[in-house]
Amino acid sequence: MAIPSLFTVFKRAMGPSSSHTLGALRSGLDFRRILSLFPGKLLEGAQVDIELLGSFALTGAGHLTDVAAACGLFGYEMAPGQATMQAFLEEHQKHPLLFGDVKIGFSYPGSLRFNTVEEELEHPNTIRFHLTSSRQESLATVRYISYGGGNLRGPLLDICAPEVEEYRAMIEKKEIKEEPSREKKGAFGAFSHMDEILEYCNREKMRLHEFALLNEEAGGASRMSLYSEIAGLWSIMEKSIEKGLTGRGQLPGRLALQRRAASLYENLIRGIRNWRVMSEEITLAAIYAIGVGEENASGSLVVTAPTCGSAGVVPAVFKVIQEKYHKKKGDIVNALLTAGLFGAVALKNASVSGAYVGCQGEIGVASSMAAAGAAALLGGNIYQIEYAAEVALEHHLGLTCDPIDGLVQIPCIERNAAGAVAALNAVNLALLTDGTHSVSYDSVLDVMIRTGRDMNPKYKETSQGGLATAFISCPNIPYKKKGDGGTAG
Ligand code: SF4
Repeated sequence: MAIPSLFTVFKRAMGPSSSHTLGALRSGLDFRRILSLFPGKLLEGAQVDIELLGSFALTGAGHLTDVAAACGLFGYEMAPGQATMQAFLEEHQKHPLLFGDVKIGFSYPGSLRFNTVEEELEHPNTIRFHLTSSRQESLATVRYISYGGGNLRGPLLDICAPEVEEYRAMIEKKEIKEEPSREKKGAFGAFSHMDEILEYCNREKMRLHEFALLNEEAGGASRMSLYSEIAGLWSIMEKSIEKGLTGRGQLPGRLALQRRAASLYENLIRGIRNWRVMSEEITLAAIYAIGVGEENASGSLVVTAPTCGSAGVVPAVFKVIQEKYHKKKGDIVNALLTAGLFGAVALKNASVSGAYVGCQGEIGVASSMAAAGAAALLGGNIYQIEYAAEVALEHHLGLTCDPIDGLVQIPCIERNAAGAVAALNAVNLALLTDGTHSVSYDSVLDVMIRTGRDMNPKYKETSQGGLATAFISCPNIPYKKKGDGGTAG
């Protein structure tokens, strides 16, 4: 019942996708842990195959899901300064997959299969690892579900041969640290909705970031480590804005999109093209968000907030407020605690997965997190903060996920700008009231999950509908509508 840790929505990640890239990477790493449990004689001559299903199969190529899963299997850890996943894989695929001195049959891309055959799945982001013996007998099939923001459910042991049965308990022992099921001590195990949190904070005269801190501490974290971890995440967010404003060149993928945050920023700062209808702060927030979106699309290090595809919204909004009002790092950490609390409630009671509920769960939730944190940064009371979050999410309800060519680029990059601007508007509106409002954040989350369930699958990260099937004109590629014998998809 407890509210998940805020580190379920704020994580270091390599772009372009948290569910499709980070989740796949983490599943590969966990399956590597499982392989390491087995004795050499069981693995001798064995073969590993990876099967991508549902949205993973349909958009996995653009999201680097195959690359990430293989990198995880080879032990890629996302350490600072480590090579990109592509460079890491290029190097490792020259060598066999080794456990001790036992070689396991696995090659990239030969051992990966994009299974697009429709199948009833518990969740559209599903990956299976198949382990086959030297006698071509199935030893184990292990499944993982990537349910948004890089969070994994699993390992789920679908096939378990008698030789593997004795390791079942160790296989199923989860080593994935940020699971929301982490037990909470005392009263903090009993909260599950924002309304309950508001009532408690009102009674105890507590700010929302203080509640978030206590919620983390109840899960076993120390206050000092929390502050330093969150401050570290903010540094990565700032860096991704900075790099986004200087990065140039073409983004990966067939769309041949050019990065443009740097030129937008220069045009604004130098007054080259200074006609605009919005204030400088709002324009800057949009450009910062595009910069982070481009960093993410390039496969660079970002912080999920709550996902990679929506990673630009929170940093962009906090950065403009920090610059305008000279906020200190400690204020930003508190704002991140508040934002993380709203994201964690969304993850618990709805979803942050584009493949499950569409983009309302990614950019919509990101916008609500940014609005909540920004309202807190500007001194809003707990009801104004919740109102800001509610307004930001409410007007993203029904937003589809239809990335062109399975890449996290169109509409994703500009959508970060739209989410940031919507968050600032929500904060403005909420702070002009005393916080009294009609619809709660909890209610909007409830509507979001129900809308997501009703949504046609072609609008949920499958690249089978909406913009993903639009005719687009790019300088280098003759794109046609799907079904016209064109090259899209
Ligand atoms: S459209 Fe939205 S949900 Fe879909 S990949 Fe892009 S940012 Fe994520």
